[in-house]
Amino acid sequence: MTRLLTSVLRERAGQNPGQTALTALDENGAAVETLTWSELDTASRSLATCLLSRAEPGDRVVLPPLPGLRFHVAFLACLYAGLIAVPVPPVALREDPQRPGRLNRLLAVCLDAQPRCVIVPEGDAEAISKEWAAHPMLRSVTVVAADSRATPGKLPEVSAGSTAFLQYTSGSTSRPRGVMISHRALVTNQGDTYSRAALHCTPRTRIVSWLPLYHDMGLCLGLAQPIYSGIPAFQMEPGHFIARPESWLRAIAAAGPDVRSAGPDFAYAWTARRVRKKALEGLDLSGWRVGVISAEPVRTSTLRAFHAALAGCGLSETMPVPGYGLAEATLFVTGVAADSGPMIRTFAPSALREGRVIPDPQGQELVGCGAPGREITLAFVDPETRQRREPGHVGEIWVRTTAAGSGYWNRPDDTTATFGARIEGEPQDDWLRTGDLGFMYDGQLFVAGRQKDLIILNGVNYYPHDVESLAQQAHPLVEGSVAAAVSYTEPNRVVVVIEAATEAGPEEAELAAAAVLRHITSTLPIPADVVITERGRLPRTTSGKIRRGETATRLASGRVPVLARWPRPAVTEENS
Ligand code: ATP
Ligand code: MG
Repeated sequence: MTRLLTSVLRERAGQNPGQTALTALDENGAAVETLTWSELDTASRSLATCLLSRAEPGDRVVLPPLPGLRFHVAFLACLYAGLIAVPVPPVALREDPQRPGRLNRLLAVCLDAQPRCVIVPEGDAEAISKEWAAHPMLRSVTVVAADSRATPGKLPEVSAGSTAFLQYTSGSTSRPRGVMISHRALVTNQGDTYSRAALHCTPRTRIVSWLPLYHDMGLCLGLAQPIYSGIPAFQMEPGHFIARPESWLRAIAAAGPDVRSAGPDFAYAWTARRVRKKALEGLDLSGWRVGVISAEPVRTSTLRAFHAALAGCGLSETMPVPGYGLAEATLFVTGVAADSGPMIRTFAPSALREGRVIPDPQGQELVGCGAPGREITLAFVDPETRQRREPGHVGEIWVRTTAAGSGYWNRPDDTTATFGARIEGEPQDDWLRTGDLGFMYDGQLFVAGRQKDLIILNGVNYYPHDVESLAQQAHPLVEGSVAAAVSYTEPNRVVVVIEAATEAGPEEAELAAAAVLRHITSTLPIPADVVITERGRLPRTTSGKIRRGETATRLASGRVPVLARWPRPAVTEENS
């Protein structure tokens, strides 16, 4: 029988009531709030009791980011009450007459999830409640202050198969979809063969996380895994990490000799670029045993830059630790063993573009994302014919996992297509289609790119990521900037849009655009246009991933400000 996360929490509270379980840190690394196992458990059960006076099991409860440890308590309260938690990115909760439309994102969430309640910071609850009472779409949503408490009463029996929360996908390729994660899947994904195997927690382990809790990696690392493994965790605000990446490193150094943390590639690259040398003086990172790098392609340049920037801090050679996962599988799918270090392999790029895996010492570097957990099976499938690809070939990554989501909330057609796939000629019809392309090599998964983002030029596949990496190395004005390579309007041409890292005049931007094009075409013989845009103009998800499809849409409708374009517009497709 599956133990629920809440049963595990009750055990922790019983066995180790006075140990500090969670600590929220401020930007200087000082504790702003702490909760022992017992306090966490009691607060969650009392809020659960309050919620049950306003909602019934199965109702949805929207959880925007909340200060301190309020989100942790609110999420667990939903689990205790059998309510479906709906973590959402920061959304405006009140109208602003100066800025009409501010509520649109919240309204979209409400339209999709049809919530009964929303939990908001206590200081704002009254004002929000008053405003919503007069709003035609929000009137039916009860506003609950995050500090609401009632004497814990009898809580309902919650079945392992019922939905614990909706995990919205990041929205890289389409609108975010709410994946229904059952109590069973949540616990299973934390288990010995899953995330825990990747994190290798021991009783001495401490977790440090600045990842937002509305993202699957943040929720598992900062909330579910600490409870599951009984590991104290330190939670930072995402904004503090972005403003000063050294605050992440300091929190890790202060957390003891056996620390786990995680972030997407951009977090490690950002840290390498932004961390101030002075801030690293005397910093000992030798206790950071596992720093998972996942959620987007892992670049060798990032691994090297990270080590170079932190040289002298005692960072283990085996760091960071690559992994691969997605919301539809709760999170974890593959991971590298903690002490083995990233595996970098080189492959013939031209063969990869034709879907064949051929090792080539001079070829393109890819980083292995580790092996699947023991109860997870991978298959590599032709996305069109649905036949298995032979070993040595790139295919769509299909996953069978006991921690699969139960489907997309209110999207039966998408659910069948994604969660109920069948490989041609085989009986099982419960494969999860990831939409990612990859292959196994030397026992590890290598991710080549996303099927939807693939650029097909004259029948040859190009991974946008490869084109973007070239663009990012071509000129100081765009070094390491956000880029998107897309194919649009003309099928056999690619447009590479890249943000300028600093302000630049039209001439400098044009020189950079020309340099980017030269650099790309010296490696990849593709017909391309380069567009330099202003910093912050390319559409990204709330977790910082590039949205290539949306970039193409905006380009087509002239909604990407152009600082420079090369070749000059007179010879590009728009004017021809
Ligand atoms: P949406 O599904 O809404 O388009 P998304 O796929 O980015 O957004 P998530 O579930 O948060 O939403 O992210 C999972 C995806 O992230 C994977 O399907 C894959 O494309 C990418 N990803 C995760 N880990 C890696 C990795 N190690 N290497 C390359 N890509 C990765
Ligand atoms: Mg996805």
